[in-house]
This record gives sequence, C-alpha cells and structure tokens, in this order.
Amino acid sequence: MTDQPGTWETPQKILVILAHPDDPEFFCGATLARWARAGHKIHYLLLTCGDKGGGIDITPEQLCTSRHIEQQNAANIIGVQSVRFLDMEDGYLIPTLDLRREIVRAIRREKPDILVTCDPTLLYTWFGKVNHPDHRAAGQVVLDAAFPAAGNVHFFPELIKNEGLQPHTPPEIWVSLPVEPTIVLDITDIWEIKLQALKEHKSQIGDPDKFEERMRSRHTDDSTNENPRYEEKFRRLSFRQ
Ligand SMILES: [Zn+2]
Repeated sequence: MTDQPGTWETPQKILVILAHPDDPEFFCGATLARWARAGHKIHYLLLTCGDKGGGIDITPEQLCTSRHIEQQNAANIIGVQSVRFLDMEDGYLIPTLDLRREIVRAIRREKPDILVTCDPTLLYTWFGKVNHPDHRAAGQVVLDAAFPAAGNVHFFPELIKNEGLQPHTPPEIWVSLPVEPTIVLDITDIWEIKLQALKEHKSQIGDPDKFEERMRSRHTDDSTNENPRYEEKFRRLSFRQ
C-alpha cells in the first residue's frame, strides 16, 4: 500500500456491510465511487431491505421490493460489482451470534481485502439526531465478526467443515461515520456521483430538489455554497502483518 490511505497499488476487493439500502451512498458513496473508478472491486451486503422506511401508503413488502431496485440502481452509478441483501427485518437488528455467523460466512466467502462498515459507538449524529439503532447494531456485529471470529479456526468451525469456508481476517477495516476519524478524505471531485446515486433512493429522499439543496449545504465549514468542499471520514483499522 502507498502512504496515501485508500490508494492501493493493486486492485482490492472491498466488501461493504451496512444495515440499510442507501447507507453505503449516504455514509461513504463518494469514496466508494472513487475506489470503483480506480479499478477496485466493490460488493455490498445489506442486512435489511429498509422495509420500514415508508408511510402508511405502502406496505413493508412493497417497500422492500422497491428498495432492492433503488439500491441496485444507486450501486450501478457508484460502480459496484454486486449487491446482496439478507432481508432481515428493518429496525429490529440486533448483533446476535446467529447474525455474527452470517457475517463471518460472508467474510470467509468473499475474502475481502478491505471491509467497510460503520461505527457502532456513534449514538448521536453530528446534525443533532439519534443514530439509527440498526446502524449501531450493524457496525457492532460486523466488527465482532471481523475480529476475532472470521480469521480464527475455532470460531464457527461448522462453516469450515460443512461449507469449506476457510478463515480470513480482512487486512483493513474502514469504519464510516466514525466518532473519532483517523482519515478525512476530500471527495469534492467525485461528490456529484454520490448525489446522483443518492437520488436513486427515490422512496427515501422526498422532493428531489429540496433533497439536493440539503445535500449541497453539507459542505465543510471552511467552504461556501458557491465554492463548496465535501469530505467523508473514516476510522481505519489495520490487521496487516
Ligand atoms: Zn440507514
């Protein structure tokens, strides 16, 4: 790896595991788009289909179906290779041992070089809201699966015995929405792609023009509406030897 974080010399396999459709784009869509354009291979695993993210005019089943489509469309814009859903119930995510096994299975099967998830310790968002409990549960279960379970033969040995899935520890984990970032990336040059991808989540964004205005206003404090600068932040964990 070069000194600059996120610029690797060889193509990396990147597995993004988050709670809901739209989380990858909201949390780190510009960075993912940049990585895809640099030749890295990105795969999404989403734990729920976000079936409670609607009002009374749509059933959870209908919403689940449309959110699958919206997420695939957004992923196409980002440049993602594949999107998979576990379709667990939205809003009720808990970091159980069963779910940890499921994540270990995904890590051992995909063998990512880079694992991306979110920070389970973020309780309050920077814009004054409670971070969704599913985001916290997803971050917790993914980190618990990544270390020490995924790389240790004594954790979930049935996955080795029955499915031939050998232990694998992702060399790097990038934790998005970090309480304490260790990496701040200027993503201004690719930010429009993030916005374009986010606008595919039609069931979630309300009026597209107002949404765009809101997103455009989320520039850094040291920039202006006329000359905005945008950032994405991570806490990077390294398991490289
Ligand atoms: Zn979410």
